[in-house]
Amino acid sequence: MPAADPYVPGHGNRRYAVRSYRLDLDYKVATNHLSGRAVLEVEAVEELDQVALDLYGLNVSRVRVDGRQARYTHRERKLRINLGSKTKRGGRLKVEVDYAGKPRPIPSVFGPVGWEELTDGVLVASQPCGAPSWFPCNDRPDDKASYRVAVTVADGYRVVANGVLEAREKRSGRTTWRYRQSEPMASYLAVLHIGRYATTRAGDRVELVHPRGVGVGAGTAFARQAAMVDTFAELFGPYPFGGYAAVITADELEIPLEAQTLSTFGANHVVAGWDNERLVAHELAHQWFGNSLTAASWRDIWLHEGFACYSEWLWSEASGRRGAADLAAEHHRRLQGLPQDLLLGDPGRELMFDDRVYKRGALTLHALRGELGESFFPMLRDWTAANRWSTVTTAAFVAHAQRYTDADVAALIDSWVYSAALPRLG
Ligand SMILES: [Zn+2]
Repeated sequence: MPAADPYVPGHGNRRYAVRSYRLDLDYKVATNHLSGRAVLEVEAVEELDQVALDLYGLNVSRVRVDGRQARYTHRERKLRINLGSKTKRGGRLKVEVDYAGKPRPIPSVFGPVGWEELTDGVLVASQPCGAPSWFPCNDRPDDKASYRVAVTVADGYRVVANGVLEAREKRSGRTTWRYRQSEPMASYLAVLHIGRYATTRAGDRVELVHPRGVGVGAGTAFARQAAMVDTFAELFGPYPFGGYAAVITADELEIPLEAQTLSTFGANHVVAGWDNERLVAHELAHQWFGNSLTAASWRDIWLHEGFACYSEWLWSEASGRRGAADLAAEHHRRLQGLPQDLLLGDPGRELMFDDRVYKRGALTLHALRGELGESFFPMLRDWTAANRWSTVTTAAFVAHAQRYTDADVAALIDSWVYSAALPRLG
């Protein structure tokens, strides 16, 4: 099988799509033991006699397809389910997988990704290929589905998953937390947080989930997060999901990470100051760029990171700090001093999270803004509206932006995105 995405060989499958996931999970924090059932609604993209799901390191005890027991093999990272008979293109299947074990992060060229035990709890950080560490899935960024996730844990722990908390049921010392993510979501954005958390509301949309001893109000990097949502909604169009949560773990984390409807930070990111506040802005901006509008393939990662980095500069300006033009000039100068051997539009998987992808991506947008002038933000708002909850490509972005200017957008993108040499700025 050819790779579904060359940046994550071995993950994902193009022969089918998943329309919905339902995960019913039980988790014991002390022993890191996870057990449960995944129910996937699968649609055949072509004629199918097998469904190959991604699942790493957990034990499968039973698989059923449309209610009937199915044969399967589970080797390395692939759960291959034999359908017995052929399913026609467009046909739907209900695939149920019972599984259990001690989830652990998946080793990858990006380092270990996915399920991660904390001192007293769990987080999931899956970008780009960690989702199979905790549930069977079609692990490719362009196969978006709706999710219902229920997790049962001991009382005293809080569970945070994507979307809306629909119910919380207590029974004999344990609580089941039921979440629903209705808007389509890529597998790498599905996450779980389990910890002894308190929650603090900030405005009517934002929730801060944090250890009891850690303040997140005035005088911290999160103090202005509700204002950030308003600023970005004004610039990029309406916030694309129901709510937003920033989860702050008791452990320190090297870098924060976005997921759909929430972001993950470490206790070290709470301290006030630009270094942390820019990260808070960055992860929030991913709700529009990365989560609602997801790159169809990882080579287009600049459509996430360039936009999120530019959002930092926009927040800097909106919050009364340095202007975006000033920051663009500074980062252009810095990039001039670095090797110019990276292709923004296809950096290769080793360099997909290289800081130059972020900065040059932001500079590309700033250069485009120079051409579009006052049409730049209306163009962006139309871009997020037209592609909401969907997948995007650089080619689609070029075609879209071209409608707002007589300047040659393809030529601009060619020099910034598809050439290694750094173009002049403005
Ligand atoms: Zn980012």
